[in-house]
Amino acid sequence: MAGASRQTNGPHFSRSDRSLLSGCTPTRSGRRYLRKLGLQNDALHEFHAKLAEPSAIAEAGASQTVQRFLQAIHAETWFRLGDQPDIVKTSMGSRPGDSYADVVFGFLWSKLLHSYVDVLAEHDILERIPICDVPDLDPDTHATLETQQFLGPNWMDDLNVCLAASSNAGIERKAGVALSILLDKCKSLYMAPNLCKGKTETMSTFRGAESRSYRRKYFAQASFIAVVGEHGTSQVSVVSRYLHLGGLLHHRDIDKIEVTRRLAIAHQALTSHRKILFHNRCIEWSKRKDMFVTLVLSKLVYGLESWTMKAQKTKDQFYGGVMKLYRRLLRLPHDCHITDLDLLVRVGLPKPDELLRQCRLRYYGTLHNCGQSAQWGVLREDHEWMTLLKDDMHWLWSQICNTSHLGDPQTHYPAWKDLLFHHGGYWKKLIKRGILHAIAQRANYLVALRLHSDVGMTLLQQKWVESLPGNEVIARPAEHYGCMQCQSQQLSRSGESVHMFKCHGHVAQARHLFAETHCPACLREYHTRAKVLAHLRHSTYCRQCLIGQRMQCQPAPGTGSKTDQELAACTDGAIPFQQAQGPRSNHNRLREFEPHCIRLLEDLYLALLDMQDSEQMEYVLRTEIHRHPVSWTTCRCTLVQFLEDFTPQDAEVLPCTYQDVRDCLQKLCQVDAWPFLQQTCCRAGEQMSTDISKWETWCTDLAFQTEAPWTRLQPLPRTLSRQKVILHAYAGRRRPGDIEWYIDAAAKQFSTFMIFVASVDIVIDAVYGDISRDETREYWMGHIAQGHVVGFFAGPPCNTWSRARHHSLGSKDGPFGGPRVVRTPTEPWGVSSLRLRELAQVNIGTLLLGFAFNCIVALAMRSGTGFVEHPKDPDQEEMVSIWRLPILRMILALPNLRLVHLAQGLFGAASAKPTTLLVLGMPDIEVMLHKQRITAHLPHGASVGRGQDGQFRTAPLKEYPPAFCQALADALIKELTSTECSETNLPADLITRCKEMKGQLFGHHIGHDG
Ligand SMILES: [Zn+2]
Ligand SMILES: [Zn+2]
Repeated sequence: MAGASRQTNGPHFSRSDRSLLSGCTPTRSGRRYLRKLGLQNDALHEFHAKLAEPSAIAEAGASQTVQRFLQAIHAETWFRLGDQPDIVKTSMGSRPGDSYADVVFGFLWSKLLHSYVDVLAEHDILERIPICDVPDLDPDTHATLETQQFLGPNWMDDLNVCLAASSNAGIERKAGVALSILLDKCKSLYMAPNLCKGKTETMSTFRGAESRSYRRKYFAQASFIAVVGEHGTSQVSVVSRYLHLGGLLHHRDIDKIEVTRRLAIAHQALTSHRKILFHNRCIEWSKRKDMFVTLVLSKLVYGLESWTMKAQKTKDQFYGGVMKLYRRLLRLPHDCHITDLDLLVRVGLPKPDELLRQCRLRYYGTLHNCGQSAQWGVLREDHEWMTLLKDDMHWLWSQICNTSHLGDPQTHYPAWKDLLFHHGGYWKKLIKRGILHAIAQRANYLVALRLHSDVGMTLLQQKWVESLPGNEVIARPAEHYGCMQCQSQQLSRSGESVHMFKCHGHVAQARHLFAETHCPACLREYHTRAKVLAHLRHSTYCRQCLIGQRMQCQPAPGTGSKTDQELAACTDGAIPFQQAQGPRSNHNRLREFEPHCIRLLEDLYLALLDMQDSEQMEYVLRTEIHRHPVSWTTCRCTLVQFLEDFTPQDAEVLPCTYQDVRDCLQKLCQVDAWPFLQQTCCRAGEQMSTDISKWETWCTDLAFQTEAPWTRLQPLPRTLSRQKVILHAYAGRRRPGDIEWYIDAAAKQFSTFMIFVASVDIVIDAVYGDISRDETREYWMGHIAQGHVVGFFAGPPCNTWSRARHHSLGSKDGPFGGPRVVRTPTEPWGVSSLRLRELAQVNIGTLLLGFAFNCIVALAMRSGTGFVEHPKDPDQEEMVSIWRLPILRMILALPNLRLVHLAQGLFGAASAKPTTLLVLGMPDIEVMLHKQRITAHLPHGASVGRGQDGQFRTAPLKEYPPAFCQALADALIKELTSTECSETNLPADLITRCKEMKGQLFGHHIGHDG
């Protein structure tokens, strides 16, 4: 289709006649009234003829009763205007303020539209769309469907007629005919459409051959289209954009402007309630977030469901804009650099593209409420939007596939269709769940990423590794760019130019060649200066002509400047370049810009003249270059030029030989002479990789390197203080016979030492025990790094890793159904679709495991000691285990770390319970374990399923048998007391904190933590 036109008509009717609706005969006064309206005798006859036709309500199929009823309303009602005390009662016509007028208008308008469609069809103007009953995701494109006429959307008096033609001339003809028929129709029903700009407009998209000349014709010369009707001619303005029901239509695309407009509306909404609502600390964050969604995001996405956003630039703009809104909501300072992932997790709201998905899916559901009366054929034809929607459906399914019985929409669409048609409420809930799931999955991903990056950072800070994955190094760009004065390096030619302009005010030379928005050589008008500049870059002839003419204009604000943006806004991208007429200069001396800097060239020679000692030549030249704000590109050209111009005669007056100068200059021409140009540089912002798989590869590489980077490093020595602090993470409730109990008992034998066990658990201390807080993690990690904490032990919750999940109990979703598998060997950080509750469990499990890993790594670098306990690897292909994680393999490669395997059944546990310990230090642990064993044979009890009391049988297993605790405590104490000690003291506040965090909450039975 070469041309497409959206002819829009928003006739704002100044008057319409009531009697046409209800079919009364006007009285004598009525005739007077008609004369008053300016209807002449002919018209009066026609009016009578119209009245003789069936009335609009009769045509609409109303029964006699309803017709009489409406006639009665017409004749026997009154209304008031504003606060005027008097009452208006009309027997003829209507006037503004009459609430009945809308009814009158509605019937008349529908009558008009019906006949309008018929006439347009006679002239073969309308497009045809297929008739289909229900929407289908994958319509059979080969099936031939019956078609029907399609006029366009209409809301009250706001009509949008859509036309298309195969040529630009065709679109012009169709628009003219359609408009003239419409205006005549209105006239015949005594309606007066408002033809002013902004009320009745046409907007055309010209494509293909001659579209430039059509654009010139309508957007530049005449901004109206002449309409010849039966009763005279009128003009309808032609526009490049049109606002229909609050949404902007643009002759090219939904573009930048509409996104900008939507973002501005959202920012305004945020600003207006910012202090009282969004940034009010007295209101809970979750409430504030909800209000943000209702008050700001809803305004942002209004009408957005129908966008397709083709250009990547527009997508980027929308993405950036939404992220900026989120930043404002979080009150992040401008200089706070956080990754997008981090920002999205902190704000806990949908990603910009998820926002769009949500809109489209909801809208699709809303469309189904229209049932059969919706024009599904239009949707069928909108391939782009349907492609997006299909992707959205698939996205939704990927979020919920593990928690609902719905199949893949691609293959099980009937089930989805049923849902859309009959369970609209459930559809909305489903979308909401999909979004919440996506947000929770993102949070989960970030926690898993942190598990890796925190360990990486700990190693990097002590320089045990040189770099982390993701420091995207752009090693040695092929071309070199930089500024000789600032000694800074840029990555590209344009980056160099931007630096020269921003820091040194160097204007591009071509900008001196023109002052206005046309090219002075070929006299083409480009409407913006940015386009003239682009033209001069590419049109060698024009550029050389102007340089030959020695054109020196005052550079005007160019690309990206406000003035230029205003200029661009004036034409709205609608007008192509136009050829202006005028005298052209004839002397065609073509010349190019000189690539070198004359000032630098002269100054270099002068510097050589002033030089005292030929030994200093390189230093003098370097200093001279450094004094000039020139780019490396210009500097190199200048040096080359110097070499070309320099003759032995020039050298005679210098205090050095001709060859010396040449050698020195040739050396300076090389990039190698300027180290700053060759630095490898990183792109700002991308500090660490946000891809877990990259981290896993990094870990694997380190784990299996023959010589790890830290082999030549020694861990820092342990602190010599007699106060020893041990962290017990996720301690939970205390009970007699636990590890701490044995530590306290054993510590009594070593009176020279003071041993403190701090229970880092949220039930002990809501602030310093809450590992999910960044500050808490930093607090403890800081003390480990400084050597204040020397021991750590933890048994991170294993429920999400448990092999017991592989035993299915009863039905999948029944009340007695066991927990499902949430981690797999391929997705150890959580399966991609989970229940929200499961996601929360996985999240906390990963978080606690990550803290344990990080503590052990930090302690390994400070000669600390400790262990992490977890169930033994089941050694089965389909089961997941932390002992197979790449990060764990890497940790094992650190000095003094090893794995110890045992069975808790040998220490008195009810079942075998194979366990593995990640042990740091503690050389005697095997001996101690052997000593404390209470049986030589493993028990045969199984501990999966539920016990008599309905609790899972795995619950008591969370607690260690006392003999096992004693062995661990003894080994730990032995290791801690093995080093000598001095009288140095640890910071007092840490000791107080540890004393406070001593678990005092004793329970008396083994089992569930209640
Ligand atoms: Zn500079
Ligand atoms: Zn030109």
